[in-house]
Amino acid sequence: MQQISPPPEQITPTAEIATATHGGRAKCLQRLVRMDLPVPRTVALSFATVHKIAAGEMPDMKALLAPFGDQPLLCVRPSSEDPDWGGPGAVLNVGMNDALYADLCKKIGTEAATAVYMRFVQGYAIHVARLDPDMFDGLSLEGHEGLRQVLDAYEDETEEPFPQDPEVQLSGVLRSMARAWEGTTARLLRQAKGAPADAGLGLVVQEMALGLGKGECGSGVIQLVSSATGLPRVTGRYLSQSQGRDALRKEGASIYLAKDPRGPSLEDLAPEAFAQLIDYTRQMRIRLREEMQTEFAIENGQVHVLDGVRIRRSSRAAVRIAVALAEDGIIPKEEAILRVEPRAATEMLHRQVDPDVPREVIARGIAASPGAAHGRVVFSSTAAQAAAARGELCVLVRRETTPEDIRGMHASAAVLTERGGITSHAAVIARGLGLPCVVGASDMKVNLRRNTVAMADGRVLKEGDAITIDGTNGNVISGEAPLLEAAQDDAFQMLMSWADDLRDIGVRANADTPADAKIARDFNAQGIGLCRTEHMFFDPGRLTVMREMIFAAEEADRQSALDQLLPMQRNDFVELFRIMQGHPVCIRLLDPPLHEFLPSDRDGIRSLAEALDRPLSDVERRIEEMSEYNPMLGLRGVRLGITMPEIYDMQARAIFEAVLEASTEGAAVVPEIMIPLVSAKREVELVKNRVEAVAAAVRTTSGRNFNYRLGVMVETPRAALRAGEIAPHAAFLSFGTNDLTQMTYGLSRDDAGRFMQTYVHQGVFPEDPFHMLDAEGVGELLKIGADRGRNARKDLVLSICGEHGGNPESIAFCRAAGFDYVSCSPFRVPVARLAAAQLAVRDRLKFAD
Ligand code: PEP
Ligand code: MG
Repeated sequence: MQQISPPPEQITPTAEIATATHGGRAKCLQRLVRMDLPVPRTVALSFATVHKIAAGEMPDMKALLAPFGDQPLLCVRPSSEDPDWGGPGAVLNVGMNDALYADLCKKIGTEAATAVYMRFVQGYAIHVARLDPDMFDGLSLEGHEGLRQVLDAYEDETEEPFPQDPEVQLSGVLRSMARAWEGTTARLLRQAKGAPADAGLGLVVQEMALGLGKGECGSGVIQLVSSATGLPRVTGRYLSQSQGRDALRKEGASIYLAKDPRGPSLEDLAPEAFAQLIDYTRQMRIRLREEMQTEFAIENGQVHVLDGVRIRRSSRAAVRIAVALAEDGIIPKEEAILRVEPRAATEMLHRQVDPDVPREVIARGIAASPGAAHGRVVFSSTAAQAAAARGELCVLVRRETTPEDIRGMHASAAVLTERGGITSHAAVIARGLGLPCVVGASDMKVNLRRNTVAMADGRVLKEGDAITIDGTNGNVISGEAPLLEAAQDDAFQMLMSWADDLRDIGVRANADTPADAKIARDFNAQGIGLCRTEHMFFDPGRLTVMREMIFAAEEADRQSALDQLLPMQRNDFVELFRIMQGHPVCIRLLDPPLHEFLPSDRDGIRSLAEALDRPLSDVERRIEEMSEYNPMLGLRGVRLGITMPEIYDMQARAIFEAVLEASTEGAAVVPEIMIPLVSAKREVELVKNRVEAVAAAVRTTSGRNFNYRLGVMVETPRAALRAGEIAPHAAFLSFGTNDLTQMTYGLSRDDAGRFMQTYVHQGVFPEDPFHMLDAEGVGELLKIGADRGRNARKDLVLSICGEHGGNPESIAFCRAAGFDYVSCSPFRVPVARLAAAQLAVRDRLKFAD
């Protein structure tokens, strides 16, 4: 169907102008006109008209120019549907010619008129006639003589005098802007920002208010809140004609807007105009339901409103602006919730690299844990701990981390690894600790013998060199980049409390330690969805006992080591239960292969031999015996529980005894016990029988009763497929999407980082599936598991606890599939709460429609 383009319309309160046909700027100007603000006369060209112009079909130029009188002086600005899609730059002073110049010399003085004409000729030459910008090099660009030279230079290059007819000038400007928009580079750029391939461009042609003349004249922009914080503050920029021509040329040479002890202000120079601008900007906030920046010109003390744009804002400011608009009754709370990008919540919780300061990126990897930190490079946990003891910030750089690095990670400000993906050890632990972390930076090479790391550009960092880790973007930056502080302020808390009132899916945290649990509570997690108990054994004091248990050849020796571990585990759980104050705590029984607790380097093996008082060869033999070709698919998870049931017995006892201890003090604790890596119903039956026996024994010896819930972690495709027969034995199913992704793809979560970037770049995977839930494949298993489980057991509680749990996209998926809650790293809890609330609000809006 052929599109009929409406003729260019003057913007009046009733003109037919819409964002979808004329762009956001045209629509906004119409709103300002409807508010009766002093907007200079403006004509809007629709997308269809501009599209035709690009194809060589001009609109009726006489009609277009008619509203602007005999001597028009105009500016042309782009008006796309979404301002973020960009567009050609504005062209000012269209219509400037010799006659108008002579006129303006009288009105605003020769100097100002010359500057205006000269700027227009230069802009026209470069953007419309497409001449080389160098052509003006060496010209004086001063006064009347300078103008002559510029006009002559134009004529020399084009072999035509500079066009004097405003119609010719305007046609040229419109054509060049329309064609710039349709060019391939511009199209690709805006598509990268989310614009559809056929996004249209509107143009607005507006009478110029020069801000030059008699009395107070000038131009600028004004806004009522700070773009960095969102707090009330009159800011912007004002260039007064009284500052002279040089100042007009120089960017940033402005005077203050509101009264300021440091220098003159618009408020001093033109108090009435200033008051009017404040009033107009306030009115815009109310009528346009947005915090706006007013672009204005002042002529002889009189204000002209040239444009209104949504103010630029940091994440922190976005939150405060949305909350303030809702608190002032300008927008509903639901809309405030929708206006904040959930990932902005991440920025609020962590320090960030200051985006306005230039930085030198020396390596890139996977952004594994958000936030930024700088410190001196260290290559071992010991060096990290030594640095921390000296009070120095350090960044732990490793090929990959192992459980032995836990203390080093605790001591570091950030972590960087050459290998690993989004669910590698380094990534998971760093997220739990809230440490910025970049993993899989495979273009750098760590040399542990020399304690150096070679970067792709050839530079070699050694211990003590300063670097900055940007875990939000995956960048490694040379030196100490300036950082912006985290901000969990009152506005943020308010927004989150509204989000909690609105959302309809639970949000818990993955928390293994009391420190994690405290953070989880501070972020209002509704419980712990995954407590990985193995992390409780990596503490050096416990690691030794754990290793004794692993080395025990006799049943009695193993039991004795477990007896020592029991009170330690019990204390851990008591503390978790206390912190969580009656909120559910889901404890996962031991998951990893036991050899992960054994040392891997020579020094570690030697000191273990000393601790166990055994020959080195014994220790080496045992490590050798326990090593597996595929440990991730070997003796781990419930397989440990089946082959060495005493370990799970000890953990169950520790949980029940802790319940009794913690329940005497406050809210009754109902623990959840989760069996990892299940693939068959019989595994669940066996573990369940033993856990029930332990519970009965603890009830008998204590003479007290307690409840608990036993559930299954669905991490193997088989468990998802067989959920129908597993569910009758489980109160809940929690989908561990890290392992489930690994096993569905047959893709090692620890090695994927090596080639993931290539895979994503070549479009094999749209995204790293360890980062973004693969809705088609892994997601189908989730749906199958959930459906079959729920069909078999109506009250089955469903959740996700893999790293995907904190992603807005996975939350949408789980909510749609009827899950009860998601569980994610504590620092991602606020993002999840906000994302969940947005889903609920969007659903309500759809429903209301
Ligand atoms: C999972 O596999 O998704 C999970 C949460 O467990 P872990 O990451 O500890 O293997
Ligand atoms: Mg797992």
